[in-house]
Amino acid sequence: MIIVASTNGKVGIWAAMEVLRGGGTAIDAVEAGIRLVESNPEDTTVGLGGIPNLLGEVELDASIMDGRTLAAGAVAALRGYEHPISIARKVMEELPHVLLAGPGAERFAAEMGFERRELLTEKARQTWEEQLRKAMPETVLANLEGEPALRQWVQRVRESRRGGGTVNFLAQDADGNICAGVSTSGQGWKYPGRVGDSPLIGAGNYADNRYGAAACTGLGEMAILTGTAHSVVLYLKMGLSLEEAGRQAMEDFHALADLYQGALSIVALDKDGHHAAFSNREGTTYVYMTGEMDEPEELPRVSAA
Ligand code: ASP
Repeated sequence: MIIVASTNGKVGIWAAMEVLRGGGTAIDAVEAGIRLVESNPEDTTVGLGGIPNLLGEVELDASIMDGRTLAAGAVAALRGYEHPISIARKVMEELPHVLLAGPGAERFAAEMGFERRELLTEKARQTWEEQLRKAMPETVLANLEGEPALRQWVQRVRESRRGGGTVNFLAQDADGNICAGVSTSGQGWKYPGRVGDSPLIGAGNYADNRYGAAACTGLGEMAILTGTAHSVVLYLKMGLSLEEAGRQAMEDFHALADLYQGALSIVALDKDGHHAAFSNREGTTYVYMTGEMDEPEELPRVSAA
């Protein structure tokens, strides 16, 4: 039994491990762990308290994948629901689809009995406003809804933005089944409707019991364009070690145009329970916990520039 997560997943890792210790599945563990991160208002990159889009609206992306059946569920550009990971799970369980976006995802959430909630905290609203003030004149800020060329502000705000986030959870339960989950408020100050890698199976998330699982944080466009999470698993299938699989997946970023060069990190787990994490930024970490451990351990990611 093991849980591997991005470092901001630490708040949920004990709960996830409790699920596994109690005989729960990897899917139950991933959902339980991620829900606690989504509810943590201190985390400005996931769920409640997430940094909003350019218009000040919190838009969430999430996905979950069952490595036993390769079934998956995802939601994108979802507004007004605190637990996109649970809605993603319901998409997997209740529909013959993988991904629901925007109003359709919200309709489905209501249908499944999820409660609406305001996700923009005062702290996140202030951060949003401060950031926009630095990048645009007061007259534009005062009428953002009616701004005819909203697109021009994406790059300008982004240039001065703070680092990313997103939470990744990978779990392997007592039966050897693997599940991967990702939840995020996405890139801060994004163009409304922008969807990142997190809800895209193969880009930000992938799990296959036969080989392993991987999930990403960072500039989602990089993972979308190179199919990062699936690449890691495919490299495992081809017989590479976990470390070599992660390095190879990150190699692909060198081919991307400058516009898409940014920070990208991966957590990975193979079918035998080996774990590793990778980043093209120095000094980043991840956490893991096995069934025998009382506390999670935080380890450095392999630096693969
Ligand atoms: N990967 C997320 C996205 O691009 C954001 C992040 O991890 O910073 O939406």
